[in-house]
Amino acid sequence: MTNAELVPNDEDRRLAPRHSCFVIPSSRAQVARRRVIRASSFLLVSLSIFPVRSHVADNLGILGTHPKWAVLEKYQETITHDDFARLIQSVYCTHGFAPDLIEINEETARILINRQSQKSFTLRFAKNDGASNPVPRLWRPAKSLPSAKLEKPLSGLRIALDPGHLGGKWAKMEERWFQVGNSAAVEEGDLTLRVARLLAPRLRKLGAKVLFVRNSSEPITPKRPDDFRELARKILIKNGVPHPRVDVLDASDPEKEQTIRWQSEILFYRYSEIRRRAALVNFKLHPDLVLCLHFNAESWGDPNKPTLIDTNHMHLLVNGSYLQDELELDDERFEMIRRLLSRASDEELPLADAIADAMARETGLPPYEYPTANSTTKVGTSGYVYARNLLATRLYRCPVVYCEPYVMNSNDAFARIQVGDYQGMRNVNGVQRKSIFREYADSVADGLVEYYWGTRGKGD
Ligand SMILES: [Zn+2]
Repeated sequence: MTNAELVPNDEDRRLAPRHSCFVIPSSRAQVARRRVIRASSFLLVSLSIFPVRSHVADNLGILGTHPKWAVLEKYQETITHDDFARLIQSVYCTHGFAPDLIEINEETARILINRQSQKSFTLRFAKNDGASNPVPRLWRPAKSLPSAKLEKPLSGLRIALDPGHLGGKWAKMEERWFQVGNSAAVEEGDLTLRVARLLAPRLRKLGAKVLFVRNSSEPITPKRPDDFRELARKILIKNGVPHPRVDVLDASDPEKEQTIRWQSEILFYRYSEIRRRAALVNFKLHPDLVLCLHFNAESWGDPNKPTLIDTNHMHLLVNGSYLQDELELDDERFEMIRRLLSRASDEELPLADAIADAMARETGLPPYEYPTANSTTKVGTSGYVYARNLLATRLYRCPVVYCEPYVMNSNDAFARIQVGDYQGMRNVNGVQRKSIFREYADSVADGLVEYYWGTRGKGD
């Protein structure tokens, strides 16, 4: 959870209610809503300030790219009406949507390309499962992999590891840093990289080809905060701050989110960084799945005098549960439909459940319950998996399982992080246990084995 807000998931914790943006208000209702939002907390907004390439501008999210709707022609007659409607209702659009955005008919679905131009894309459904065209995709579902042997249940599988955040010298900027007295500082980006480096050899031993989305504390994006100062200024002005301050006064500055410094930093380390990671995943790594590795946290207040709590929990995320405001954005609506048609959900949801079951068994952690269902929808069978529209889960074009175990500022997790990594078992907080990093890596690997060994063909 956030330092300052009731925003439980950590990718989004600096933007209440979530990472995504809203459209510049025009109607009276929207203006009223903007006042409410400005009164509570400040949000990044969607902007159409990028060069307009045609006479009708796309309504894009932050640093969003223009959707290529023609790509969806490849998905004609690859899905039945019933499967399409099921995925819309139970995974992707659980909060509803404006009726003109997606119209599901008996034989076709009509998806609005752009409200201003009123252009739409028409998807033709397959008449039945037997008459469906093959789904075009670069990743391979477990069922389509060649059979595997018991000792190599992940053979041939391409797994990309995405350790969340940056850590190192960026950890304070990311607000993923806290320190208790003279103890070692806790930096989420360093913890996730440590887990990834323990997980990689385990997965290789099981037969997988392992790829790192990040394997240092340096960003993938070549951009830096200063590259986004002008964009940050425009975002602030469009969001009702006519004369934005340049700098944050100090960490406790209540209006820091309305400064050019804060906005340009988040544009760098979140929006630009995750979009570059997506380009790496989609155009170079071509994995069969991506594992996003994170540690969760609850509000810790002053990072130099953080609050430690008894609460500890875990949950996993898959893509879905788009908000109505997000569906209004042309790029997000397009990316959602492309993801739906790729059938990533049919793979990532049972996989997430299998990983959740293994992690729950081995960590003993209870499921995290979001305080409100505003931006998430519980899905699957384990009780630990939620659908949520995060940048990474939306943009990586393959199944993505996003892990959020352990509350870093819980007394138990904090003590285990301070002990560090070790082999075998040790007594920590009165309990014999593995290092927190090995417990994380081992349980993820066990969940993968259970899913792939249970799903793919068996060799000798
Ligand atoms: Zn995180």
